[in-house]
Formats: sequence, structure tokens, C-alpha cells
Amino acid sequence: MDLDGVASEAKQALESLIEASTTRLTAEVRAGSARRQRLVVGGGFAATTTHVTSGIANDQSLLLADAWEPWGAMHDWPMGQPAAELVSEAFVRQPESFSPANNPFCSAAAFSAALQVTQAHHAVPLCRAAVSAVSHAGGDFAISFPGGTAIAPQLDIANGRGPFARLSDSKLSPELDAELRRDGRLAYGDGRELDTFAPRGDVLVIGGGATAAWFVERGARSGAKVVWLAERRDPGLWEDALAKRLQRLEELCRSPPRSLDVGRLRRWIERLSAFRAADVPRNRAAFRANNVTRTIGSVREIKSLGTRIEVAWDNPSGAQTFDHIVIAIGQMPTAETGPEGLAHPVRGRRLLCRNTLTGSVRCLSSAELGDDLSEERIIGVANTTVTFRVLGAAAAYPWRLVRMDHLERANVQTHLELKQLRCAPKHSRGIAGSIYQASIDIALANKTPLQAALGAARLNHANLSPE
Ligand SMILES: Cc1cc2nc3c(=O)[nH]c(=O)nc-3n(C[C@H](O)[C@H](O)[C@H](O)COP(=O)(O)OP(=O)(O)OC[C@H]3O[C@@H](n4cnc5c(N)ncnc54)[C@H](O)[C@@H]3O)c2cc1C
Repeated sequence: MDLDGVASEAKQALESLIEASTTRLTAEVRAGSARRQRLVVGGGFAATTTHVTSGIANDQSLLLADAWEPWGAMHDWPMGQPAAELVSEAFVRQPESFSPANNPFCSAAAFSAALQVTQAHHAVPLCRAAVSAVSHAGGDFAISFPGGTAIAPQLDIANGRGPFARLSDSKLSPELDAELRRDGRLAYGDGRELDTFAPRGDVLVIGGGATAAWFVERGARSGAKVVWLAERRDPGLWEDALAKRLQRLEELCRSPPRSLDVGRLRRWIERLSAFRAADVPRNRAAFRANNVTRTIGSVREIKSLGTRIEVAWDNPSGAQTFDHIVIAIGQMPTAETGPEGLAHPVRGRRLLCRNTLTGSVRCLSSAELGDDLSEERIIGVANTTVTFRVLGAAAAYPWRLVRMDHLERANVQTHLELKQLRCAPKHSRGIAGSIYQASIDIALANKTPLQAALGAARLNHANLSPE
């Protein structure tokens, strides 16, 4: 059977599995006894990796997800890295085996195929359920979803980085938001809409990150005239990149000698900072397209002008009218159903850390972190009394989940990690939030018992070294 056949067979098998697990869960909930050893919120790469590497039997675990991984809906759209970089400990077949050898970037379909083949192979107990709340009592976690509750002494939160952020009601009224969504004139920066996004006319894409860049590229490709609007950022955040570019500029000015236009330089630096998060090799097309204008500004108000949409922003450019707008301004980990929202009742007081030299995973408080933070990479949050972890993309935002008074220095480290993640360089193997790194961390974490007394618990990780 060819690889397309393998992928589509896995997809069908998975659909039957999901149907069966969801039916079983519904029946158990009705009978009042949906109880397992471990529950996982999420159905994407991190949720699958923790299930597959945990060694917990299928009938003792449950993955609850409101939708599956986001990549399947993007079809042939290129991801941010080559397939060879998207290796996971959990996959039974790596994305590379589904990706044509000459593709510089892995297609979303190839990554999705690797994930679905893995889920089908392991008969992952994946259920359809949008988790709305988590509570903790008597040593058990209870997770709620429409129509029921499931209970377990262990919980992994692997639900990504939360719902996509919206503009405040004063900038875009809920009524107009609903109307524009209904007409297909407004899209949110959810990759699930990317594949069908083929606008004409004038398009505004709001947001300075990688997801915004993908919508810009789509709009430019379908012949639209795109304005790409990003908020001004503190250039200080990008000091490394700026230092390099300034050094280059100095070299250019030296030979042959030229005068420096300070105003132009300032505008250039502002632009560089505002779009820095999207400026990776994968997104060259969005930066180079002739029909894309990049602008810096913060949206003030969006109004309807008949068939056109008027958008005003706080920049000398003022207001313009558009046929379509895309809002891709990040995700909200703090929302009720984001990782922080769901973890709220059980805020971790200790961290799950991996030692970068030895690879060991330990459950630590900030006091135990030691002086050299570069040796400990924070990979999640761990509760002291029961097993509770935040994994995958959800863990790329852990500092609000841990007690702030404990973690001044640790925050700095985490902030640096996030900064790297946003930049998503060509090779992101060393970055905690990347697929490659997160899968190693999750596999290691699954070998570490997290009871309170086991702060220094060790594991044998010899076959899971990062490089
Ligand atoms: C534009 C873009 C490009 C990227 N490119 C790369 C790349 O090239 N390489 C790389 O390493 N990383 C990349 N990433 C990061 C990448 O998304 C993550 O590394 C990976 O997909 C995270 O997997 P995850 O399972 O943690 O989260 P997700 O894949 O986001 O999965 C979250 C899961 O949780 C479910 N869920 C969410 N909320 C709930 C709820 N309340 N109830 C039930 N289920 C819920 C979702 O339906 C989904 O199943 C990219 C991200 C973006 C946005």
C-alpha cells in the first residue's frame, strides 16, 4: 500500500475509534462512573505523545479533545520546518516518510498523517468533548464537559495555547463580529480556516506572528491587495537580532562611507521589531510579495460601511476600507478553556524541569533550581500532592501557572524560551515548545514519578538524548 493509502486507512480507523470511545464515555457518564488512571485534555501531538509514552493501558486513560490536531485541516500547506526536524519519540512513522523528499518544509498533511497513523496504531482512546472546567478534590481531578464529568487521580493538560484572541468589544462589536463571520468576510487566525482562505480585493491581516504571515501569503497568492498590520513592539526584546543588523549596517556605512538617516533607521528598526516573530525562512513569500504593504499600528475601531469594512488604527495612515479582514493576534492561555484557565484550581507550586546536561527530569521548586538556570529547562508545571502536568505548547506559557513569589529567576529563563519559540528559527531543536523538543520532554516526564516526596526522582533516559 502506498503512503497515501496508509494515511487514509489510519484516518478511517481513527474515526471508528473516536466514535467507539465517545459512545463508551457517554454510556459511562450516564451510569455515573467515568473513571480512569489518567485523563488528558487535548487530542493533538502533545496529548498523543503523553498517552503513547506513558505506558498506561488504553482502558485506563482517556484523551478528551474538542477537535483534533490543527494540521490536518491545512492539507498541503508547508509548516515552519523541514520534515526531518519534526521527529517525535511517539510516532510509529515519522512525518518525513509522508513528505516528498524535495519539499523544503514539511506539509501539514504529512505531519498530520504521522500523527493519525500513530493514534490509530496505538488505538488511542480519543473522545470528542470540549472541556470547560477542571476541579480537584479528595486526591482526584474531575474534568467537566457538556453532558458529563470524568475523574482520575492524574491529569495532563495538553490543550495547546488556548482560544484565539479577539479584539475588545469597543474595537469590534460582537454583533458586527458575528455578521462578518457569517458572510465569510472575517476570519480568525485559526489554521483550520487557512485552507479555504482565498480572498479577492482589499484584505487586512492583523497580527505580527507566523500565523498572520500564513494568511498574508494566502491572500497575496490569490491576487488580493493585502495590508499587513502589526502592533509596535519594544525593539529591546529583539536586541540580539538588532545588534547583528546594526553591525552589518555599520559595515555598509564604512565602505563606501555614507551618512546615516536616523529617522529611516528608526522606522526600519520599528518595522523589524513589529514583524520579527513572523520573520523566519518559511515566511519569505509573505515578506517579499509585491501586493503586500506592511504597516505598524494598533486597531482602534472596525465599522461596517455597506459591503466594505472600515478599519481605523492609531497610526498616521489612519483608516482604510477592506473587503476581508483576518484577526491573528495570538492565543489566550489565560482564557477559561486555555491551559491556565483549566489549571486554575490546581496551580502548580513546583516545576517540571529537564537538566540540559544530563537529560534527567525532576520536579523542583524554584529554591531547588540552583544558581545556573541554563542547566535546568522548565518543561511544565507539576503539582505537589497529585500528578498534574501541563505539556506541549500549553507548557510554553508556564510562568502564570506557578507561584510568582517563588519564581523570579525562573521567569527570566521561561521568557527567553518563549522569545525563541516565537521566532521559530529554521532549526528549532533546542526550543522547548517545538515538536521535536516537546516530544523528548514528554517522553522523559512520563518516566518520572511526580509524587511530592520525589523531588529528585531520576530516570533512565539513555535512549532519549536530545541530539
Ligand atoms: C503557524 C504555526 C506554525 C508552527 N510551526 C511549527 C513547526 O514548524 N515546528 C514546530 O515544532 N512547531 C510549530 N508550531 C508550534 C506547534 O503548533 C506545536 O509545536 C504543536 O502543534 C503543539 O502541539 P500541542 O498538542 O501541544 O497543541 P495543539 O496541536 O494546539 O493541540 C491542542 C489540542 O487540544 C484541544 N483542545 C484545546 N482546548 C480544548 C478544550 N477546552 N477541551 C478539549 N480539547 C481542547 C485541541 O482541539 C487540540 O486537539 C507552529 C505553530 C503555529 C501557530
